[in-house]
Amino acid sequence: MRTDSEQIADRPVVLVVGAGINGASVARELTLNGISVIVVDANDIAFGATSRSSRLIHGGLRYLERGDFALVRESLRERAILLKTAPQFVRPLRLRIPVRRRFGGLVWSVLTFLGWDRACLGRFWLHCFPNARERGLWLIRLGLWMYDRLANSPPLPPGEGGRRPGEGQSMFDSRYQFSCEYFDAQILSPERFTLALLDDARQLAQERSLTFNVHTHTLAEFHDHDVRLIDRLGRNAPITVRPDVIINATGAWGDATLADWRISSPRLFGGTKGSHFVTANRELRATLDDGGLYAEASDGRMVFVLPLGDEQTLIGTTDEPFDARPETAVAEPREIDYLIDLVNEVVPSARLTREDVVMSYSGVRPLPFGRADSPSSIPRGHWIEENSRGPLPILTLIGGKLTTCRALGEEVADRVLSRLRLPRVASSRERPIPEPRGLVDVTRSVREGDLGLDVIRDILRHEWVRTLSDLVERRGLLIFDSRLDPPRLRELATLLADAGVIPFDQIDAEVAATVTRLRQSYGIDVRGS
Ligand SMILES: Cc1cc2nc3c(=O)[nH]c(=O)nc-3n(C[C@H](O)[C@H](O)[C@H](O)COP(=O)(O)OP(=O)(O)OC[C@H]3O[C@@H](n4cnc5c(N)ncnc54)[C@H](O)[C@@H]3O)c2cc1C
Repeated sequence: MRTDSEQIADRPVVLVVGAGINGASVARELTLNGISVIVVDANDIAFGATSRSSRLIHGGLRYLERGDFALVRESLRERAILLKTAPQFVRPLRLRIPVRRRFGGLVWSVLTFLGWDRACLGRFWLHCFPNARERGLWLIRLGLWMYDRLANSPPLPPGEGGRRPGEGQSMFDSRYQFSCEYFDAQILSPERFTLALLDDARQLAQERSLTFNVHTHTLAEFHDHDVRLIDRLGRNAPITVRPDVIINATGAWGDATLADWRISSPRLFGGTKGSHFVTANRELRATLDDGGLYAEASDGRMVFVLPLGDEQTLIGTTDEPFDARPETAVAEPREIDYLIDLVNEVVPSARLTREDVVMSYSGVRPLPFGRADSPSSIPRGHWIEENSRGPLPILTLIGGKLTTCRALGEEVADRVLSRLRLPRVASSRERPIPEPRGLVDVTRSVREGDLGLDVIRDILRHEWVRTLSDLVERRGLLIFDSRLDPPRLRELATLLADAGVIPFDQIDAEVAATVTRLRQSYGIDVRGS
């Protein structure tokens, strides 16, 4: 452990604050290009939006309606790169869109494209034609055609529009006369993908004799040109570093982070909250087979119904303005009811009720602050905001998707390299993202209900675990395991103590804190198991 007085000898050094998918991607790009990096997270790796997403690597079919072709093209390019460089994390996913009408939605789409959907004309149109939003077969066909064209050289099969519901589709409500089909991709564990990015950065740093450190549960405090890293768990002494550049990759916390550092800045973020729930409903899972559904709610919002492992289904998401601190976001009962109603509308045989909800979660999108009329019309691209008002240059990352994390990392690294007058020496476009050593197939381990002792010990040794919640929520993904109970939590906490991660006298407190977090954050009541 570095003491307070030690400084990092390698120059230059970049401090990445926030270990979500974007902070991790930036860290990897920088080490790839010969820069030493220190990563700090106030909580844990992938604690924020990264672990609370819909888990899709997609171009964003619906962004076409807003005319955001550049974003769709970039996302589709990144989808292709990830399918090639990280096939163990990202897999192709067939999606079906149940459709009720042959025609419809065209005028509304034009209004949306022109940005007039919330203007007087849009409201008038909706008043005259309450179903004006509902997209018809021809409109969806047009969208899928454009999606395939924008994918350029698609690694996935093209979309298919307009099948009559045949065998295997009869479970849709009879009003759904047609079904369209297309391919996107799914990333089952963005948590472990983020870890893989950091693990790769660590390998790169070793090969290039660079400094690379990850400090979780740690706050960065400014002291003029120095930054003090304070361990929130009180187990390590503070460390002082003097970075050349700071990356504020704290996602939806971005404004609060700048305010904590007393950096004057206009408001940058206007996050929206999105909630999901997971169900083990058999009828619904059988309907999906290996693919997912992309279904339209009565308010025109599109909702994903996605396979999660062999037995579960992930349903989401909502999209609502959210101004509170991101860690307080939870899936409200009314959001869950909204999603349940939509599923029952499309697949009535599922007869979903709240009893079917195994767990739920909610996250805040780090979207830009602006004057968008509705959450869905906020731009979904990414931006880098430079701030040189403080003692050290700060680059704040705004927006971004799981899908475009590599591209954002590349852009940020280019800015840093140009600021430091250094050349880019390597690109991540072709570089495989290796699986971290600890866990080969986390979804299989969860399915079998048991993470083997060797696997857990490997995780504890290599994967920056500091609390029981880190292990349960984001490394072992045990939140998706319905067999989680207090004795199991105690067993895991004891392993943490055996490995020297937590003191033995903290075991009970760790179990109690994890039980509380699981209930508050995911609606999981382990005491009832
Ligand atoms: C509901 C929902 C669904 C989504 N679905 C998809 C999808 O299907 N596909 C897709 O491509 N994208 C999706 N996204 C978008 C994507 O998840 C996010 O854009 C992305 O995860 C943002 O990553 P990030 O690293 O910027 O932020 P985050 O993942 O939020 O990470 C920020 C990190 O900063 C840390 N932090 C906060 N404050 C401090 C501080 N003061 N000091 C140090 N650290 C701090 C937090 O602990 C956190 O770990 C979705 C987002 C949401 C919310």
